Amino acid sequence: MKKLVIAIDGYSSCGKSTTAKAVAAVLHYAYLDTGAMYRAVTLYLLENNISFDDLPRIEQALHELHISFRRHRRTGRNEVYLNDKIREDDIRQMRISNAVSEVSVIPVVRHAMVAQQQRIGRRRGVVMDGRDIGTTVFPDAEVKVFMTADVEVRARRREEELAAKGEIVPLEVIIENLRKRDRIDSTRAESPLRRAADAVLLDTTHITIDEQVDFVLERVSAALFG
Ligand code: C5P
Repeated sequence: MKKLVIAIDGYSSCGKSTTAKAVAAVLHYAYLDTGAMYRAVTLYLLENNISFDDLPRIEQALHELHISFRRHRRTGRNEVYLNDKIREDDIRQMRISNAVSEVSVIPVVRHAMVAQQQRIGRRRGVVMDGRDIGTTVFPDAEVKVFMTADVEVRARRREEELAAKGEIVPLEVIIENLRKRDRIDSTRAESPLRRAADAVLLDTTHITIDEQVDFVLERVSAALFG
Protein backbone atom coordinates (compact mmCIF):
# COMPACT_ATOMS: atom_id res chain seq x y z
CA MET A 1 0.00 0.00 0.00
CA LYS A 2 1.17 3.53 -0.74
CA LYS A 3 3.05 5.09 2.18
CA LEU A 4 2.10 8.56 3.25
CA VAL A 5 3.56 11.44 5.18
CA ILE A 6 1.21 12.59 7.93
CA ALA A 7 1.90 16.08 9.26
CA ILE A 8 0.45 17.06 12.63
CA ASP A 9 1.14 20.68 13.46
CA GLY A 10 -0.34 23.08 15.93
CA TYR A 11 -0.04 24.95 19.18
CA SER A 12 1.88 23.64 22.20
CA SER A 13 0.30 20.87 24.29
CA CYS A 14 -2.78 20.21 22.15
CA GLY A 15 -2.13 16.47 22.21
CA LYS A 16 -0.18 16.39 18.95
CA SER A 17 2.40 13.87 20.05
CA THR A 18 -0.07 11.56 21.79
CA THR A 19 -2.22 11.53 18.67
CA ALA A 20 0.73 11.17 16.30
CA LYS A 21 2.20 8.26 18.26
CA ALA A 22 -1.11 6.40 18.29
CA VAL A 23 -1.68 6.96 14.57
CA ALA A 24 1.85 5.72 13.81
CA ALA A 25 1.25 2.59 15.90
CA VAL A 26 -2.02 1.77 14.09
CA LEU A 27 -0.47 2.25 10.65
CA HIS A 28 2.93 0.71 11.53
CA TYR A 29 4.54 3.98 10.50
CA ALA A 30 7.58 5.66 12.03
CA TYR A 31 6.89 8.52 14.41
CA LEU A 32 9.03 11.64 14.65
CA ASP A 33 8.68 14.18 17.44
CA THR A 34 10.32 17.21 15.85
CA GLY A 35 9.84 19.33 18.97
CA ALA A 36 12.18 16.94 20.80
CA MET A 37 14.91 17.88 18.33
CA TYR A 38 14.62 21.62 19.06
CA ARG A 39 14.51 20.76 22.77
CA ALA A 40 17.70 18.70 22.44
CA VAL A 41 19.52 21.57 20.71
CA THR A 42 18.36 23.91 23.49
CA LEU A 43 19.65 21.50 26.15
CA TYR A 44 23.02 21.32 24.41
CA LEU A 45 23.37 25.10 24.18
CA LEU A 46 22.41 25.61 27.83
CA GLU A 47 24.71 22.87 29.12
CA ASN A 48 27.62 24.25 27.14
CA ASN A 49 26.92 27.86 28.12
CA ILE A 50 26.47 28.89 24.51
CA SER A 51 24.69 32.19 24.16
CA PHE A 52 21.65 32.17 21.86
CA ASP A 53 23.12 35.09 19.90
CA ASP A 54 26.59 33.58 19.39
CA LEU A 55 25.93 32.39 15.85
CA PRO A 56 29.42 31.06 15.00
CA ARG A 57 29.43 28.99 18.19
CA ILE A 58 25.88 27.75 17.49
CA GLU A 59 26.93 26.66 14.00
CA GLN A 60 29.85 24.78 15.52
CA ALA A 61 27.51 23.24 18.11
CA LEU A 62 25.25 21.96 15.33
CA HIS A 63 28.23 20.00 14.00
CA GLU A 64 29.11 18.67 17.44
CA LEU A 65 25.67 17.44 18.41
CA HIS A 66 24.00 14.32 17.20
CA ILE A 67 20.30 13.76 17.84
CA SER A 68 18.78 10.32 17.48
CA PHE A 69 15.72 8.40 18.61
CA ARG A 70 15.62 4.89 19.98
CA ARG A 71 12.71 2.78 21.00
CA HIS A 72 12.78 1.58 24.59
CA ARG A 73 12.71 -2.21 24.47
CA ARG A 74 10.22 -2.70 27.30
CA THR A 75 7.93 0.36 27.14
CA GLY A 76 8.08 0.79 23.36
CA ARG A 77 8.48 4.52 24.01
CA ASN A 78 10.56 6.51 21.52
CA GLU A 79 13.28 8.29 23.43
CA VAL A 80 15.60 11.08 22.41
CA TYR A 81 19.38 10.67 22.60
CA LEU A 82 21.83 13.53 22.45
CA ASN A 83 25.34 12.40 21.51
CA ASP A 84 24.34 8.83 22.36
CA LYS A 85 23.16 9.67 25.87
CA ILE A 86 19.50 9.33 26.74
CA ARG A 87 18.03 12.78 27.52
CA GLU A 88 14.29 12.16 27.22
CA ASP A 89 13.37 13.43 30.70
CA ASP A 90 15.83 16.33 30.64
CA ILE A 91 14.41 17.87 27.47
CA ARG A 92 10.87 17.90 28.93
CA GLN A 93 11.80 20.05 31.92
CA MET A 94 10.38 23.54 32.33
CA ARG A 95 13.81 25.18 31.95
CA ILE A 96 13.93 23.79 28.41
CA SER A 97 10.31 24.73 27.65
CA ASN A 98 11.16 28.27 28.75
CA ALA A 99 14.09 28.60 26.36
CA VAL A 100 13.27 26.40 23.37
CA SER A 101 11.26 28.92 21.35
CA GLU A 102 14.18 31.36 21.46
CA VAL A 103 16.45 28.68 20.03
CA SER A 104 13.99 27.54 17.38
CA VAL A 105 13.80 31.02 15.81
CA ILE A 106 17.49 30.79 14.84
CA PRO A 107 17.65 30.12 11.08
CA VAL A 108 20.77 27.89 11.14
CA VAL A 109 19.15 25.73 13.80
CA ARG A 110 15.97 25.42 11.74
CA HIS A 111 17.87 24.58 8.56
CA ALA A 112 19.79 21.80 10.29
CA MET A 113 16.67 20.33 11.94
CA VAL A 114 14.50 20.55 8.82
CA ALA A 115 17.22 18.84 6.74
CA GLN A 116 17.46 15.98 9.25
CA GLN A 117 13.64 15.65 9.38
CA GLN A 118 13.45 15.51 5.59
CA ARG A 119 16.12 12.78 5.54
CA ILE A 120 14.23 10.76 8.15
CA GLY A 121 10.96 11.06 6.21
CA ARG A 122 12.26 10.61 2.70
CA ARG A 123 10.94 7.05 2.41
CA ARG A 124 7.56 8.24 3.69
CA GLY A 125 5.46 6.05 5.97
CA VAL A 126 5.97 8.54 8.79
CA VAL A 127 3.90 10.62 11.18
CA MET A 128 5.62 13.86 12.24
CA ASP A 129 4.40 16.32 14.77
CA GLY A 130 5.65 19.86 15.06
CA ARG A 131 4.96 23.42 13.98
CA ASP A 132 6.06 23.61 10.34
CA ILE A 133 5.77 20.07 8.99
CA GLY A 134 2.87 20.78 6.62
CA THR A 135 4.26 24.15 5.53
CA THR A 136 8.03 23.64 5.31
CA VAL A 137 9.34 20.16 6.09
CA PHE A 138 6.84 18.18 3.98
CA PRO A 139 4.62 20.63 2.08
CA ASP A 140 3.62 17.60 -0.03
CA ALA A 141 2.37 15.57 2.97
CA GLU A 142 -0.76 13.68 1.96
CA VAL A 143 -2.45 14.28 5.32
CA LYS A 144 -2.11 17.58 7.18
CA VAL A 145 -3.81 18.29 10.46
CA PHE A 146 -3.54 21.53 12.40
CA MET A 147 -4.38 21.17 16.08
CA THR A 148 -5.59 23.80 18.48
CA ALA A 149 -7.30 23.86 21.91
CA ASP A 150 -8.27 26.23 24.66
CA VAL A 151 -5.11 27.39 26.48
CA GLU A 152 -6.38 26.47 29.95
CA VAL A 153 -7.24 22.95 28.88
CA ARG A 154 -3.79 22.62 27.33
CA ALA A 155 -2.11 23.92 30.49
CA ARG A 156 -3.97 21.44 32.69
CA ARG A 157 -2.81 18.55 30.50
CA ARG A 158 0.76 19.85 30.67
CA GLU A 159 0.51 20.27 34.45
CA GLU A 160 -0.46 16.60 34.77
CA GLU A 161 2.36 15.46 32.49
CA LEU A 162 4.94 17.41 34.49
CA ALA A 163 3.48 16.25 37.83
CA ALA A 164 3.69 12.63 36.66
CA LYS A 165 7.44 13.22 36.27
CA GLY A 166 7.69 14.87 39.69
CA GLU A 167 7.89 18.47 38.50
CA ILE A 168 5.22 20.60 40.19
CA VAL A 169 4.60 23.82 38.29
CA PRO A 170 1.75 26.27 39.04
CA LEU A 171 -0.94 26.43 36.36
CA GLU A 172 -0.42 30.17 35.76
CA VAL A 173 3.27 29.58 35.05
CA ILE A 174 2.38 26.92 32.49
CA ILE A 175 -0.26 29.12 30.84
CA GLU A 176 2.29 31.92 30.57
CA ASN A 177 4.84 29.54 29.02
CA LEU A 178 2.34 28.19 26.46
CA ARG A 179 1.24 31.71 25.49
CA LYS A 180 4.82 32.90 25.16
CA ARG A 181 5.86 29.92 23.04
CA ASP A 182 2.80 30.21 20.78
CA ARG A 183 3.54 33.91 20.29
CA ILE A 184 7.23 33.43 19.47
CA ASP A 185 6.53 30.34 17.31
CA SER A 186 3.80 32.13 15.32
CA THR A 187 5.66 35.36 14.70
CA ARG A 188 9.17 34.18 13.83
CA ALA A 189 10.44 34.97 10.33
CA GLU A 190 11.68 31.48 9.46
CA SER A 191 8.93 28.84 9.00
CA PRO A 192 6.49 30.24 11.57
CA LEU A 193 3.73 28.19 13.14
CA ARG A 194 0.74 28.55 10.87
CA ARG A 195 -1.91 26.37 9.37
CA ALA A 196 -1.06 25.23 5.85
CA ALA A 197 -3.77 26.20 3.37
CA ASP A 198 -4.58 22.51 2.84
CA ALA A 199 -4.44 21.44 6.51
CA VAL A 200 -7.63 20.43 8.30
CA LEU A 201 -8.29 22.11 11.62
CA LEU A 202 -8.82 19.96 14.71
CA ASP A 203 -9.89 21.62 17.95
CA THR A 204 -9.13 19.20 20.79
CA THR A 205 -10.68 21.21 23.64
CA HIS A 206 -13.67 18.94 24.09
CA ILE A 207 -12.62 15.68 22.49
CA THR A 208 -10.84 12.57 23.72
CA ILE A 209 -7.54 11.16 22.50
CA ASP A 210 -9.41 8.30 20.79
CA GLU A 211 -11.53 10.81 18.90
CA GLN A 212 -8.41 12.72 17.84
CA VAL A 213 -6.82 9.51 16.58
CA ASP A 214 -9.99 8.50 14.71
CA PHE A 215 -10.16 11.94 13.11
CA VAL A 216 -6.64 11.57 11.71
CA LEU A 217 -7.22 7.95 10.63
CA GLU A 218 -10.31 9.05 8.69
CA ARG A 219 -8.17 11.56 6.82
CA VAL A 220 -5.66 8.80 6.12
CA SER A 221 -8.41 6.57 4.66
CA ALA A 222 -9.61 9.46 2.53
CA ALA A 223 -6.07 10.07 1.25
CA LEU A 224 -5.54 6.37 0.47
CA PHE A 225 -8.92 5.36 -0.87
CA GLY A 226 -10.54 8.64 -1.85
O1 C5P B 1 6.38 20.12 20.38
P1 C5P B 1 7.09 20.76 21.53
O2 C5P B 1 6.20 21.57 22.41
O3 C5P B 1 7.95 19.82 22.30
O4 C5P B 1 8.09 21.79 20.82
C1 C5P B 1 8.96 22.61 21.57
C2 C5P B 1 9.30 23.86 20.78
O5 C5P B 1 10.09 23.51 19.65
C3 C5P B 1 8.14 24.66 20.21
O6 C5P B 1 7.57 25.56 21.15
C4 C5P B 1 8.81 25.38 19.06
O7 C5P B 1 9.49 26.53 19.50
C5 C5P B 1 9.85 24.40 18.58
N1 C5P B 1 9.44 23.64 17.40
C6 C5P B 1 9.57 24.22 16.16
N2 C5P B 1 9.27 23.53 15.02
C7 C5P B 1 8.86 22.26 15.10
C8 C5P B 1 8.67 21.63 16.35
C9 C5P B 1 8.95 22.37 17.49
O8 C5P B 1 9.95 25.38 16.07
N3 C5P B 1 8.61 21.58 13.96
